[in-house]
Amino acid sequence: MMDVLRPFDPWKSPLCTCPPKYSLHPYTGCTHYCLYCYATSYVGRKPSRPKKDFLRRLRRDLARADPSLPVDMSTSSDPYPPEEMVLGLTRASLEVLRSKGFRVLLTTKGVGFVRDQGLFDGLMVTITTLDGQLASRLEPFAPSPSSRLDALSSVEVRKGARVDPIIPGLTDDPRDLKELLREIRDSGAEHVVFSTYKAKPDNFRRMVLSFPDLAEMWRHLYYEEGVRVGGYRYMSTPKRYRMLKSIVEEAVKLGMTASVCREGFEDLLRAPSCDGTHLLPKRSGHLPDIM
Ligand code: SF4
Repeated sequence: MMDVLRPFDPWKSPLCTCPPKYSLHPYTGCTHYCLYCYATSYVGRKPSRPKKDFLRRLRRDLARADPSLPVDMSTSSDPYPPEEMVLGLTRASLEVLRSKGFRVLLTTKGVGFVRDQGLFDGLMVTITTLDGQLASRLEPFAPSPSSRLDALSSVEVRKGARVDPIIPGLTDDPRDLKELLREIRDSGAEHVVFSTYKAKPDNFRRMVLSFPDLAEMWRHLYYEEGVRVGGYRYMSTPKRYRMLKSIVEEAVKLGMTASVCREGFEDLLRAPSCDGTHLLPKRSGHLPDIM
C-alpha cells in the first residue's frame, strides 16, 4: 500500500483520459486560495502545510514504486506555494525522485520551478487569463499571469500550459483566449490543456459571493441547463463542446498540441497524452544514481 506516492485517479473517473502515472503532493492545502479550487471540498480551505515526515515516507514508497511510470507533482495542491521558497520540500522531493530515476512532470500555478531547473523533466503551468486584475480576484495569492508566463519562458525543458478552468462570463471571451494562447505559444509551450469550470457547492458559493452579478447566469448554466457528473455540475454538453472545440483548433493552428481535461470529448484530444506526460523523455534514458 502506497502512502504519499499514489496512483493517479484511484476512483477511475470515466471522464479521465490520463495515462497511468503517480501523483505526489508535498503540501496539503493551498495558499494560492483560488476561488474555483476543487480540492477544498476534500481538504477545506487551508494554507499549504508540509506533510509530516514527507521525505521519509516518499523514500519508502519509491522502494516499491514502478520507475517506468511518471510522477505528476501536483494534481490537487500546488508544489510551489510561497511556503516552498522557505521550506524547500518540493525541491528535496525532486532530488529524491531524480536520484531514483523517476521522471517528473510539474503542474503548478507558482513560479518557484525556475529555481529547480534540471530537477524535473516536463512542466505544465496553469494560466487562466492574461488580465492581472481578474486573476488577483480569482487566484488571489498566486503569482500574476505575466510572471507565470515569464517563468514559463525562462526554463529550458519541454513544457506546456493549462487553461483551466475556463469560466463562462469571466475568462471565456474568444478573443481573450486567442491572445492568451499566443502568449503561451510564445513562451515556448508545446502543449495546452483546456477545461471548463465545474461547480461544486463550496467553490460555487465562493464564486457567487465574489461575482454576484454573474450568479444568475451561472445558476442557469450549471444548475438548470447543466448536467451532474460525479460530484460536480457541468455546463451542458453542447455548450462545453462548442467552447472547447474552437479553442482547441486555435491552439493546433498555432502549432501546439491540445487536449481537454475531464470533458468527455475524445475528438478534442489532439495530442499523444491529455495531461502533457508525452513531453517527458522516454523512460530508458534515465539511470538512477546510488543513494
Ligand atoms: S493552485 Fe490549484 S490547488 Fe492551489 S488553490 Fe489554486 S486551484 Fe487549488
